[in-house]
Amino acid sequence: MEKRVFSGMRPTGKMHLGHYLGALKNWVALQDQYHCIFGVADWHALTTSFEQSHLLERNIIDMVMDWLSVGIDPEKSIIMLQSLVPEHAVLHLLFSMITPVGWLERNPVLKQQLQDMGLKEAVGYGHLGYPVLMAADILVYRASWVPVGEDQVPHVEITREIARRFNFLYQEEVFPEPQSILTEVPRILGIDGRKMSKSLNNYIGLSDSKEVVRKKTLSMFTDPEKIRKNDPGHPEQCNVFSFHKVVNNPSLVELKRDCEKGVLGCVACKEELSRLLVDFLEEITPFREKYQGKESLVEELLVEGSKKARPIAQETLEKAQKAMKIAYQFVREGKEGVR
Ligand code: SF4
Repeated sequence: MEKRVFSGMRPTGKMHLGHYLGALKNWVALQDQYHCIFGVADWHALTTSFEQSHLLERNIIDMVMDWLSVGIDPEKSIIMLQSLVPEHAVLHLLFSMITPVGWLERNPVLKQQLQDMGLKEAVGYGHLGYPVLMAADILVYRASWVPVGEDQVPHVEITREIARRFNFLYQEEVFPEPQSILTEVPRILGIDGRKMSKSLNNYIGLSDSKEVVRKKTLSMFTDPEKIRKNDPGHPEQCNVFSFHKVVNNPSLVELKRDCEKGVLGCVACKEELSRLLVDFLEEITPFREKYQGKESLVEELLVEGSKKARPIAQETLEKAQKAMKIAYQFVREGKEGVR
């Protein structure tokens, strides 16, 4: 069997530079080496944002539009919507029966998330079981590889444990134990120096206009010790300098020297970055024109992709049910009469 890659994202709407550098850039490259399935994890979004469910539809389309714009290619890869492939939910249910609660309570990703949200315990049953749903997303395609950032590695580890436990319990190698493909992410923060995020509104969006990029760039935090132009700066501690690296500024060496010597002022440095950023965003979204504003095309591609994904998921579920001896004979003979 050809080795499959699965990766998914919660639909948070328009993508930003952090999403590109942390995931999408890698996804684009992987398409030429593997059979890739990229999933819109809309049910996952409900684990913590169930009160904002009305925003999902718009967010799904905006996110997929950006995926397509950067070069996620529906001819090479499957782009699917989790809720259009109900086998994700059924496998999640079966996995939830064999997953010890302790594995979920010990999950370091959940602990970090709770700390960030200022909570003592999971928002709900679905939130605690998030890694089980993620395991179902990956294993329903029997994926061998999962591209993730370092913070998501524990989730892939739980997926491996669930696969191992299932295969052991039912004495059949139904599921592979998927491996993480670690994405190297350059150090880049939001314009206010905190982690780049939509909720903090400190991001550079992939579809931001030239004016918006300029405005955001000029408001970026810099080295706090460089107040006047002729104060010597510390570029390696400055987020603006990290951005210059990301956009491959050809004069990086000179810029560093001039900052340190107090020859370059922060405003001029940011003006230069804003020009380079606009070019960079254009370069990394080669298909922007093709998909921008074409909602119905994006919707169609998502539905088509989900149709391609479903038979793989159905085959896996059948294998799992057979291994568990719950693919009942009378159902297979067509006597179920309840569907
Ligand atoms: S000149 Fe540029 S790199 Fe140096 S501190 Fe200012 S913004 Fe940062």
